[in-house]
Amino acid sequence: MDKNRGEIVDLIVYEVGKTKIDAAVELDRTIEYIDQTFAEAKKLTENIIGPDTHGIKSKFGHFYRVPKGVGVSISPFNYPINLAMSKIIPALVMGNTVVFKPATNGSLLGAFLGNLTIGVLPDGVFNTVTGRGSEIGDEIITNKEIDFVSFTGSTRIGQRILEICPSKDVVLELGGKDPAIIFDDSDLEFVADQIVSGGLSYSGQRCTAIKSVLTTNEIADKLIPTLVKKVEALKVGSPLDDAFITPLITESSAKFVESLITDAVAKGGKVLTGNKIERNLVYPTLIDNVTKDMELFDEEPFGPLIPIIRVKDFDEAITIANNSQYGLQASLFGKDEDQLFEIAKRINTGTVNINSRSQRGPDIFPFIGVRNSGFGVQGIVDAIYSTTRIKGIVVNKR
Ligand code: NAD
Repeated sequence: MDKNRGEIVDLIVYEVGKTKIDAAVELDRTIEYIDQTFAEAKKLTENIIGPDTHGIKSKFGHFYRVPKGVGVSISPFNYPINLAMSKIIPALVMGNTVVFKPATNGSLLGAFLGNLTIGVLPDGVFNTVTGRGSEIGDEIITNKEIDFVSFTGSTRIGQRILEICPSKDVVLELGGKDPAIIFDDSDLEFVADQIVSGGLSYSGQRCTAIKSVLTTNEIADKLIPTLVKKVEALKVGSPLDDAFITPLITESSAKFVESLITDAVAKGGKVLTGNKIERNLVYPTLIDNVTKDMELFDEEPFGPLIPIIRVKDFDEAITIANNSQYGLQASLFGKDEDQLFEIAKRINTGTVNINSRSQRGPDIFPFIGVRNSGFGVQGIVDAIYSTTRIKGIVVNKR
C-alpha cells in the first residue's frame, strides 16, 4: 500500500471526496494498523494448563487460537481503506480467507486493493466482490460457506445481517449519536475547537462525530458566539481546493440532512448558521433549542449538522445520553477530571472521552458500540480474537 500511495490517495479523493491530506492520514493510519496487527498476532501464545495446578492431575490442556475459516468483510464509504483493512488484515493474518464487499461508493478502491494482492497471496485467499449491497448483500451473507461476518455501516443493514446470517458469528459497528456534554465554561475556546473538528471533519460523515451538544442555558449562551464564529470561518467547497466542508457522498444524503433541518425548524429549532444546500454540498449548520420532539434530537444526520440541546441540569444530559437509541461514544468537557471520571462511569456508551472529542483511535484501543451502535468489539487485538476461536487439545498421561 505504501508503494502505491499516490494512486490510493487519488482514488480516495475522487471516489469519496476527501481532501488529499485526509486521504493520506487514512492511508498512514491503515499501514500502521497492518504493522500493529502483525506485532500483536506474534504475541499470541499457547496456554498450557496443568498438571498439578487447579486440582488437575495427569492432564495437559493445550489451548491456542485457530482461524474460523471464511470471513466476510463489509465496509462503509467513509473510511474506504481503513475500515476495510481493519477487518481484512486481522482475518488474513490469523489464517482465514476473506470475501471483501466494499461500499458501492468505494468499489474502485476495493478493486484496487484486490489487484494489489494478486501474485502476493495464493488465489482464493482474498476475494473482492463489488456491487450494490441491496442486490448482492443477502446472497453473500446467507452463503453457507461463510463462517463469520464483520460489518461496518448503518444500523438498519447491520441489524438485517444479524437476522439472516446463518453462522450468527457477526461483529457489527453501526451508527452513532455521540453527545458532547459541556460541564463548565472554563475553556470554551478549546471546547468549541473540539466540537468543530469532532462534529464537522469530513463534513460530519464519521460514526464517532460529535452529533449533539448538551449543556445548560448559562454555558450555551457563552459557548454559542465562539462556536458560530469558528463554524462560519470554515472553508466550504471542493476537496480539490482543500475545503474543510465538502460535498456529501450522495445527493440523497444531503436531502436527508435537509429534512432534519426542516423538521427541527418547523418545531421551533433556531438556525444559528448554515441551512444552505447546493446539490450534495451542505453548509455547516448549527441548530439551537433542539428538543425531544424533533427528529434531529436522536437521529444521525451523517452530515455537517449539529444540534444544541439545552438541559436543566447535568442529570438530564446523562439521561438523554443513556436513553439514546445509539451508544457508541460520548465526550465530557470540564475542569474537574475526577468528577468527570465518575460521571463517565454512569454513561452507557461503548467509550466515554474526557476532555476530547469522540474518536475511534488509537486503533489499539477496543472499539465498542452498545444498543443500536454495535455488536461485538473491534480494535487490533479484539479483531484478532473475533476472527479466531480457541482450540483445545487435552493430553491425558497414563
Ligand atoms: P450502509 O449501511 O449504507 O453501507 C455499508 C455497507 O453495507 C456497504 O458496503 C453497502 O454496500 C453494504 N450493504 C448495503 N446493503 C446491504 C445488504 N442488504 N447486505 C449486506 N451489505 C449491504 O452505510 P454507509 O452509508 O456506507 O456508511 C454510513 C453508516 O456507517 C453510518 O450509519 C455510520 O455511522 C456507520 N459507520 C459506523 C462506524 C462504526 O465503526 N461504528 C464507522 C463508520 C461508519
